Formats: sequence, structure tokens, C-alpha cells
Amino acid sequence: MTDPLELLWPIMDATGTFVTADQIAGWPDGFHQQLLDLQVLREAGTADRVLCPDCHNHVEEVLALPGSRGKTRYAISCPESLRVIVSPEALRQWTVDTGRFAFLLAKTLNLTGQPKELAPDRLWRLGRWRYQGVMRDMLLARGCERADAVEFRREITAAKRPIVFVVLSVPAADYWTGEPPPLIPLPEVALLRDGEFLMDTQQILGLIHDVDADLANSRDTLGTEALSLVLDQKVRSAIENQLTETQILQAYVANRLSARAAAAELTSRGHSIHHSTVSRTVKKHEELLRTGSSESIQRTRTSQRRDTPIENRDSNK
Ligand SMILES: [Zn+2]
Repeated sequence: MTDPLELLWPIMDATGTFVTADQIAGWPDGFHQQLLDLQVLREAGTADRVLCPDCHNHVEEVLALPGSRGKTRYAISCPESLRVIVSPEALRQWTVDTGRFAFLLAKTLNLTGQPKELAPDRLWRLGRWRYQGVMRDMLLARGCERADAVEFRREITAAKRPIVFVVLSVPAADYWTGEPPPLIPLPEVALLRDGEFLMDTQQILGLIHDVDADLANSRDTLGTEALSLVLDQKVRSAIENQLTETQILQAYVANRLSARAAAAELTSRGHSIHHSTVSRTVKKHEELLRTGSSESIQRTRTSQRRDTPIENRDSNK
């Protein structure tokens, strides 16, 4: 079963539109009353123009006619029937109270703080939500694709790690000046069951996670690039010097005298070192390495000398 809220979203996303009695006649049983009970829909005067109830082909301006016993009657002109009487019931109209919806949304999500309208009838701060130990501002925006949505962009970006519920439309790609916040389309997460709004929090968490993960990835890539650009030789040596020469030599020996393997191992342990640095350090302590081994460290100098390989002994003479 499709959720009846699908009928509500286009109306909520638009502004200045009314729900007409004619539209409601096509709604599923009880949906209109449920929205009235939730106060998401409220009556807003009478319509100036209505769809012709006779031929359903045109929308006409409503004319008020003096009726019998002082009662006003309403009618429209119709090319086919000339004049069609419209019942007062057919003139009723309603508007969506998005502010009330924002309040219900905040309540359903158990947010902390009170909902607040940040931009008249367009943007609301719902409250704060703890996500992975961080408090984040949850917002609701409607009509995001319209040009005037730039007027409340600052209100969004100034929020604390914002997460934005949108109705149907999303802002254009160039809307955001910095990193775009996670956008949660209401049709993907909101349900109406037994006259109450329900939110699919698993889906909300999934959407937030995906956007955050994408941002973290792009941040890492940028970070590495930027770092290698600014990392001059001085900075490199400073980092390399955090490793003691002993550590480098130990890694070299442990990796069967391979400078590359030693560098890879040290890098995997969180040190930033190039194999050429390992080679340089090895060269510096060539003598020690030639005469020593992990075994011979325990031995005396004399015994070391005795253990020295023949080719080395030759070069040592
Ligand atoms: Zn007509």
C-alpha cells in the first residue's frame, strides 16, 4: 500500500497553495480527518475560484448571489451549463501547517530543545539530535529548489553540524557554498499509521551515515594531497626524526636487510618514512651492521670479530 502522505508532500513543498474540497474528495477514506486531527491541515477561508462541479473542465471565479431569506448562494459560469450553483461545502479550503508538522516531527524524533521557525514558513529548526556522540541541529526546509531559497541558506549553514529534512525538492548543486549537509527527503522516512506520524530512524541514520562517510573520504583525499604539497624537506626530516635510528636499523634487520620492506613496516606502524631514509641510515651505520647481528649483540667485541664474515674481515683489515 502506498502511504497517503504521498498526497501531502507536493502540497507541503509548495507555498501559498490551498487544498480544495475537490482534491480532498479524491483522497483515501479518513486521510483528511487524520490530518485535521493532527492539525497539520487547517481550514483557511473559502475558495475564490473552483473547479466546475458540473463538467470538471475548467476553474472559474465564484460569484456570490443573493438568495432567498437573505442567504447567499454561490455560482460559477460554465460554457455548457451557463450557470452552475456551487455548494458552500465545495468552497471550503485548507492549508498545510508546516510549522505544526515541524513540531510533530521533533516530537516523534524525541529531539531536545523547542522547534523554532528560522525563515518564515520555509525553514524550521526542529531541535538537536545526538548522532555518534555529537549533538547535531535537525532542520526542516521546504521549497528548496526555488530561487529565494538562498535567502535562508545562511540559517542552515550556521547551524551546528546540520541535518536537513526536505519535503520533495532538494537545493540545486551550486546552492551550497561549503560542504552540503545530509538531506533527508521526508517521503523516504515518514509514514502515517493509525493517524500518527512515524519516522523510520534506521533509514535516517543510513542517509546521514552515507553523506558523512562521503565527506570524510573526500576530506581525507584532499588532506593527503594538500599535505604532500606543503610538506617540504624540512618538515619531512622532522617527521622522520621522530623515529630513532635504532628503530630504523631494527626494522631493516627484521626485514631481511630490505630498506623498502623496513620503510613499509615502519609506515604501517604509523611512521612516515621513505625507503631512501632507511638506506641513508643504514649507510651511516654500515660498520655496525656489518659486524653485528641480533645474536652477536650479546657477545663480546672479540667474539663479534671472530664471527665477522670472511668478505667483511677482508674489507676491515
Ligand atoms: Zn463547467
